[in-house]
Amino acid sequence: MNNPFLKAVPLLEKIESSGFEAYFVGGSVRDTLLGREITDVDIATSAHPYELKAIFPKTADIGIEHGTIMVFFEGEPYEITTFRSETGYSDHRRPDKVNFIRSLREDLKRRDFTMNAMAMDRAGTIIDPFNGQQALSQKLIVTVGNPKERFGEDALRMLRGIRFVGQLGFTLEAGTLASLAELGPLLGKIATERKTAEFEKILKGPFRSEALTLLAKTGISRYLPGLAGYENSLLKLSRHTKASLSMEEIWVLLLRIIGKRDKDAEAFLREWKLPSRTIKTLLKVLRWLEFRLEHKWDQASIYQAGKEYALAAENVYESLTENNGEQGSIADIFEKLPIHNLTELAVSGGDLLAWSGKGPGPWVKDVLEKAEMQVIDGKLDNEKGKIREWLEHCNLI
Ligand code: ATP
Ligand code: MG
Repeated sequence: MNNPFLKAVPLLEKIESSGFEAYFVGGSVRDTLLGREITDVDIATSAHPYELKAIFPKTADIGIEHGTIMVFFEGEPYEITTFRSETGYSDHRRPDKVNFIRSLREDLKRRDFTMNAMAMDRAGTIIDPFNGQQALSQKLIVTVGNPKERFGEDALRMLRGIRFVGQLGFTLEAGTLASLAELGPLLGKIATERKTAEFEKILKGPFRSEALTLLAKTGISRYLPGLAGYENSLLKLSRHTKASLSMEEIWVLLLRIIGKRDKDAEAFLREWKLPSRTIKTLLKVLRWLEFRLEHKWDQASIYQAGKEYALAAENVYESLTENNGEQGSIADIFEKLPIHNLTELAVSGGDLLAWSGKGPGPWVKDVLEKAEMQVIDGKLDNEKGKIREWLEHCNLI
């Protein structure tokens, strides 16, 4: 067992010594069996939340109605969930009722895929009633029980299935795949934020091409924000396999491929409910990508874009055109610029007011920008005296 587990073993012991069962469950068990690194562990227990609170002095209610509380143990927070079964699902997204139960097997049964329905005890023994290990060795994503029923209960599971394709490079088992293609419309019931979280995991995944292809071919993408009718665009995106694209760069690539710009691009990103700051960044990279598709970089454009934005736009450009880009020279040119932003200009707005004797107004910004561009183009040294001379010579002050 590796570190995060070892650290939590005394926590399981403590729960057990109080007369309850406790296990590691979910993604951390799956990822460990796959030899993937894990950062945190999920714990499931037969103890009810109030029983856990009696065992541990420091806890926080983070989802107590679903049986999850946060326990602070030896300085670390742990999410611990009471074994539960779920019933109802009349809205196709969450159970009408959660029942706390004492059986591990029943708890594992409510989980989505067999690879996610395993537990590990504190000695490292795997409890695997639904053959999750077999699925792992076959690289198959299989629902626990009937896929139609399981996707019908919670439609997000379909998107989670495709997300695991993107992360792990596994294949959806035939029955699971068939149900997914059939029940796609139920995704309409799922909150945008949950879809966005899964979609971003797809974009980040090393097997994003496979996952994007599946999204398009199963028709699932029709039920994602703004993507109805863009199946071919997603297939096109899937062919851009450049590994070094960041998630933001892939969003920009997607915008370019679906042909959205400016206001349309903004409306599309808002449909995904991305944070305003992210939207601003993406639109800026997109604008510089559009620039790059028409022009080569020069000092002025690299200065105006800023190094980070220019590099991001260039990376997307490289992926789009399969060109060997100019990332190296962008960084080089930026480093050698006489100034990197307006605050480095040797002259300020205050200087202009003092020299001209004129009152403040929009002219100050205009004149500063003129001087700024002269300096960037190498036509004027960034020295106060020289800049003043030039401004006077041009009758700008
Ligand atoms: P990740 O590595 O992204 O955290 P994960 O499998 O741990 O993947 P979580 O969302 O952290 O995913 O969920 C933890 C566990 O809870 C899953 O492994 C699975 O057993 C169960 N689970 C999560 N979401 C669902 C769902 N929608 N339906 C059924 N079981 C679920
Ligand atoms: Mg997890």
